Amino acid sequence: MRVFATCVQCWQKKGAPTSESFTVHYYDDRVAYVTCSQGHRSALLIQSPKFEVLLESGAGALIDGYTMEAAASFSAALERFFEFCVQVFCETRKLSQDIYDLMFKEMARQSERQIGAFLVLHALELGIPYKLNQDIPTFRNGVIHKGQIPTPESAKDFCRKVYKEILTVSKTLLEKFPDAYNEVIRRDLSSRSSKLPEDMPRATSTGTVFFMAREEDFDDALMNFARGRQAMELAPSLIKMFSNLIASKGSPQPSAVPNATPEDKH
Ligand SMILES: [Zn+2]
Repeated sequence: MRVFATCVQCWQKKGAPTSESFTVHYYDDRVAYVTCSQGHRSALLIQSPKFEVLLESGAGALIDGYTMEAAASFSAALERFFEFCVQVFCETRKLSQDIYDLMFKEMARQSERQIGAFLVLHALELGIPYKLNQDIPTFRNGVIHKGQIPTPESAKDFCRKVYKEILTVSKTLLEKFPDAYNEVIRRDLSSRSSKLPEDMPRATSTGTVFFMAREEDFDDALMNFARGRQAMELAPSLIKMFSNLIASKGSPQPSAVPNATPEDKH
């Protein structure tokens, strides 16, 4: 996974993002590390919950024609989304983190248990039973357990179904429990930030863009993401080019505008 970034230290020194920008990789911990030309090293924490990162990874794979990888990523996104929902439901009841961690430990390795917890909590908190889409596990098992490589059409159809499930529940949770939803994201970010070296400058970014707009139409979401990804590829060289052009004319340099916020205190 990749994200657009600038140096946090240069940003803090100058009071604005600099024209030097990067496209950096991040992985499971959702932290991207930047080293600028001045030798500053800083961290960019991706705020997006895990399921959003997996959706974006799958969207990229689908656009690039990697159908098996796309289906696997969307399938993993749905599992992580159920886990996220369980966290949100527990947060609405102000369940302590310690008790949650001990409870989740007993289901962490078995996604079926997590789905069971989700189904019960969904019924309790929203007053309606959630109906699982049975097409999803059937297709998923073919890809994950039998190594089936889906056609672009069937992979897209599968990803669309998963997207719809996640979108519908995500919207409901955000509408009913916005504080709990955001608190789960904040706590996850804070936990990951606490694992970084204390003196490392850091910034936060939403990171992912695919799910951010919560487009109703899956094709629109894919198209917007493809455009955004293309813009990210071009951004560092465009910013450099415009900076050089403006500097040569003696005007103040423009700033790169990453989707990020530096943190003053660590
Ligand atoms: Zn720097």
